[in-house]
Order: sequence, then C-alpha cells, then structure tokens
Amino acid sequence: MLDFNLSADTNADPSGLYDLIIIGGGPAGLTAGLYAARYKLKTLMLEKAFAAGGQLTATEWVENYPGFPEPVLGQKLAQDMEAQAKLFGLQIVNEAVTQVELAGNIKKVRTDYNLWQAKAILITTGASSRKLGIRDEDQYTGKGISYCATCDGPFYPDKFVAVIGGGNSAFEESLFLAKYASRIILIHRSDNFRADKILQERVKANPKIELLTHTSVQEIDFREPGNKKLILMDLISQETRELEIDGLFVFIGNVPNTAIFEGQIDLEAGYIVTDRKHQTSLEGVWAAGDVEAKALRQVATAVGDGACAAYWIHKYVDEWEEDL
Ligand SMILES: Cc1cc2nc3c(=O)[nH]c(=O)nc-3n(C[C@H](O)[C@H](O)[C@H](O)COP(=O)(O)OP(=O)(O)OC[C@H]3O[C@@H](n4cnc5c(N)ncnc54)[C@H](O)[C@@H]3O)c2cc1C
Repeated sequence: MLDFNLSADTNADPSGLYDLIIIGGGPAGLTAGLYAARYKLKTLMLEKAFAAGGQLTATEWVENYPGFPEPVLGQKLAQDMEAQAKLFGLQIVNEAVTQVELAGNIKKVRTDYNLWQAKAILITTGASSRKLGIRDEDQYTGKGISYCATCDGPFYPDKFVAVIGGGNSAFEESLFLAKYASRIILIHRSDNFRADKILQERVKANPKIELLTHTSVQEIDFREPGNKKLILMDLISQETRELEIDGLFVFIGNVPNTAIFEGQIDLEAGYIVTDRKHQTSLEGVWAAGDVEAKALRQVATAVGDGACAAYWIHKYVDEWEEDL
C-alpha cells in the first residue's frame, strides 16, 4: 500500500527568508531538494498537487530508470524520492504558486495562502498533457476523455478505447490499457511513430491493439454516455467517418508549466532557457527537468538536472549578500 504523507510541513515559516524555494515537486524538484538539504540550505518546496511526484504519479511502471532491473511503480519511486528528501530536511508545502517576483536580490513567491521569500529560486514545474483542442474536450474530460491511463484505465474493463498519439507515452499507455480494455485503437496523424522501437514492437505484437494511421480526430460526440462517438478524418482521402468507442485517451505531448514566469525569464517555445549550470536568464533563478528547453525529457534526465542545479545554487547561496 502506497502511503503518501498528505500533511503540509508544519515547520514551514512564511515570515522567514529561505535559502532556496523549489517550485514543483516532481523528480527534478525532489532530487534538487535532497541535494540542497544535504548542502544544509534552508529549503522549501511548494507543490500544487496533494502529493509530490509530478508526472511519475501518472505512469504505472518505469522500466528505464537505472538501478531497478525489475520495473518499478512510478508512484513508489515518487514516494521514495519524497521520503528521502524529507529525511534530510526538505520542507514541502502543498500550495500552488500563482505569482512570482524574480527580479531583485530577494525573490518573492506568492500562493493563495502565503508570500514566501528566498535568496534563490529553482523552477521545476515540469509539463502538463497537451489537449487535442477540439470542441467539448474540457466538458468531457474525466467523463470519457482522459490524459492518464494509470489513473483511469481500470474504469474500462472489457471496453473499446481509442488512444491518440505516436510517441512513447501513447505506446506505453496503450500497452497498459490492454490489461483492462478488450480492444484498443491507436490513432496517429502519420505512420511515422516517435515511440521507441521496442515499444512499437510490443504494441504491434499485442492482439488487442490495432493501429490507425494518417487519421485525426475532428470532433467528439459524447452527449449520450452509452453512445460515444469520434468523428475521424482520413488525412489522405480527406473522408470522415464515425467511430463508436467507450473512452478516449490522449497522449499528444506536453505543454510546459511556465505561464507564471512569462516576461520575467527567457523562454523558448514556452520552455525555460538555461545554461550549463541550469541558471536562467535571471540571476538567482534556476530551472531543472522537463520545464527546461532541452532534447530528452525523462525521469533520469530530470533527476540529473535537479542535482546539478542544486550544486550551483549552493555555491550561489554561500556567496549571497543581502545588500547586493
Ligand atoms: C504517462 C507518462 C509516462 C511516463 N513514463 C516514463 C518512463 O517510463 N520513464 C521515464 O524516464 N519518464 C517517463 N515519463 C516522463 C517523466 O515522468 C518526466 O520526464 C518527469 O516526471 C519530469 O520530471 P520534472 O520534475 O521535471 O517534472 P514533473 O514530473 O512534470 O513535475 C512537475 C511538478 O511541478 C508541479 N507544479 C507545476 N506548476 C506548479 C505551480 N504553479 N506551483 C506548484 N507546483 C507546480 C506539478 O504539480 C508537478 O508535481 C512519463 C511521463 C508520462 C506523463
């Protein structure tokens, strides 16, 4: 039984000045928190979800994180990362950051409940699922449309579900859904999949999963719960047709969680631009993990980014002076 500690850290003190505030508690933030705490920095993590772990909590098995020859549960890995960081003194408060003032020597971070202040800021807000952008998508999210197979797959035993996407997440999550659903159709805009070859081979070998290429979802009609329909378009013939399904899972990439930083630090296509020390365009502000402009977004890279950023932050804090 996984046992997340849902209580906010009661030692956290908004009236004090922290050495470091970490915004976001995924693998990058938790690793940075562990390292910063071991450097004896007074460190606070603000995480908007009820439990830390970030996207790790949305995946079932992780089988490419070093040190685990057997696949490890994403939630278990997240829980252990959190426990380890807390053991060394990381304080975690479950509040969403709504506003930041990053210029100046003392950085200000606002939530709905508090104003927190620190000498340095590490942004590890990661990314969220990209939406299809079609009519009624928001209305039926959680009522037939999902972005998380681990969370919602068990609701579809012996059902027919459609999965949209062509990358690792779409292929991994289709394989996961095959444990519950009786039939899965994996729909992609082309026949050029970005998913790792090993995942493509597994999907093609799974008799429950069929691939539908050169196809896009134009519309959904989920008005009748027992009669959910996708309106599909064949992108070669331009012909449309209906497909009756029980549920729709969307894995078409991610959008970086950077809206609150816009105009204060340099972004590239929404992702935060950093140097080799993971420092942003602003003195005293770092970023690590999926939120950074970089090529590979995985747990292993997020963890490495977080450790590296914490190293440079502790150097910065050691030399920090109030009247700079
Ligand atoms: C379905 C799925 C399967 C995956 N499978 C694998 C896999 O098998 N192997 C692998 O290596 N990687 C996998 N990944 C990718 C991996 O999970 C990510 O690369 C990794 O979690 C990135 O870590 P991060 O800490 O940078 O960001 P995230 O994990 O995105 O964490 C960011 C955190 O910041 C918080 N946050 C955001 N905004 C705010 C705010 N304003 N205030 C406070 N908190 C905020 C979020 O709630 C979140 O907890 C998968 C991802 C998904 C979605």
